[in-house]
Amino acid sequence: METRKVWLVTGASKGLGHTLVKKLLQNNYAVVATSRRVASLIEEIGDTSEIFLPIEVNVTDDHDVKKAIEKGVAHFGKIDVVVNNAGYGQIGTLEELSDDEARENFDVNVFGSLNVIRNVMPYLRQQKSGAIFNISSVGGLFGGFAGWGIYCATKFAVAGFTEALAEEVKAFGVSATVVYPGYFRTDFLSNGSVKTPVSPIQEYEAARQSEKTHLNSISGNQPNDPEKAADVLIAISKEATPPVHLLLGTDAYDMAKNKANLLNKDIEQWKSYTLSTAF
Ligand code: NAD
Repeated sequence: METRKVWLVTGASKGLGHTLVKKLLQNNYAVVATSRRVASLIEEIGDTSEIFLPIEVNVTDDHDVKKAIEKGVAHFGKIDVVVNNAGYGQIGTLEELSDDEARENFDVNVFGSLNVIRNVMPYLRQQKSGAIFNISSVGGLFGGFAGWGIYCATKFAVAGFTEALAEEVKAFGVSATVVYPGYFRTDFLSNGSVKTPVSPIQEYEAARQSEKTHLNSISGNQPNDPEKAADVLIAISKEATPPVHLLLGTDAYDMAKNKANLLNKDIEQWKSYTLSTAF
């Protein structure tokens, strides 16, 4: 009989993390769930059974993350599946975002996930099993969106280190998957989640328009269902060999195809220059 799998999910108080944790608990998985405010996490999930361990964690604090993982392993004896989900979108052009605004987005989306990976890997490496899902975005595969450069850069970083991680940990029986969601109907584009620039520059018309469209039209009308994303993650976690790259949503599929075509076009069109640099 399979022993009960233990999941660790960051950013579990709302959105995709919240939906996933609810579904995992309904399916009798054990869950270590983290959030910046544990009271709201308990309130939101509403499950106080012994298979649910809510922990207050600031993912940007390495020590906090280490303690939470220690607590999770002490409580359940192991961690099997890790979902680096906590993250937010910082809208704004590269010129208008301050150093602080840009770094804060990297702190949460990139260094937060690295803190989890660094502190959980000793356990996965020792037990010689485990699966890590790092939630990037289709914006971590294609960055050609005015006003989303910093957010996309954080998600490109997630994709880059996940590809390396997959190579590093496969010898220990651990898988690493970069997940590229398209638009999912969560709080992602709502006030309190997405951040807009403190000092916007009106001359960036395309970026201002994109900001308006995202906050006023796309928010609430995203084509993808977080419940189905959670189902896919659970299904993939049962695969013998989970993929390194996982796209979620028809929009993500189309954008990935478009990116592959654009890249291929540039590779071929400029090939003579590319090949001209050898000694
Ligand atoms: P959401 O805003 O509903 O939830 C985000 C979660 O991350 C929340 O639990 C929140 O508390 C946590 N979080 C946000 N900022 C944080 C911070 N500073 N420190 C710690 N935790 C923080 O959005 P979501 O759609 O559920 O997002 C989940 C993940 O999916 C994010 O990494 C996001 O970038 C990614 N994503 C979402 C979409 C989408 O359309 N919803 C698309 C692509 C990628």
